[in-house]
Amino acid sequence: MTAASINGGCQCGAVRFRIASLGRASICHCRMCQKAFGSFFGPLVTATGLEWTRGRPTRFQSSNVVERGFCEKCGTPLTYEYEGGVEVAIGALDEPARAAPVIQVNPADMLPFFDRLHTLPFRRQGDSPSADAFKRAIIGHQHPDHDTENWPEKQS
Ligand SMILES: [Zn+2]
Repeated sequence: MTAASINGGCQCGAVRFRIASLGRASICHCRMCQKAFGSFFGPLVTATGLEWTRGRPTRFQSSNVVERGFCEKCGTPLTYEYEGGVEVAIGALDEPARAAPVIQVNPADMLPFFDRLHTLPFRRQGDSPSADAFKRAIIGHQHPDHDTENWPEKQS
């Protein structure tokens, strides 16, 4: 792995990929992206030279023109594939900060509270002893944000 390589994968690590270069990053407000990501919008970045380095995604044909790839073991959304190319879920990148969105698309379906999310109050460490205790007790099973020789590293 070089410093320049762009890698990513699903939460459980069954599916890993490498990308030669990233293109335009966007957030899509359409109802299909909301549903496919289980979220407020779909964060996607155009990918050139996408290769699967471990496992393969399962695909759901979400419309006549689009297939969406995801990990069948853990459910992580991974791709948006259409005739013109492929886009990758930004959160699935090992370094999602490398894909800063530059445009929003399909604003007609934008959730009405979206433009206020950044004004929400923060719950910070120390505000909730029970939440802090819960967080301290977490033993993550998420694949690390880098390629691994062996998977799974830990079988439970
Ligand atoms: Zn997975």
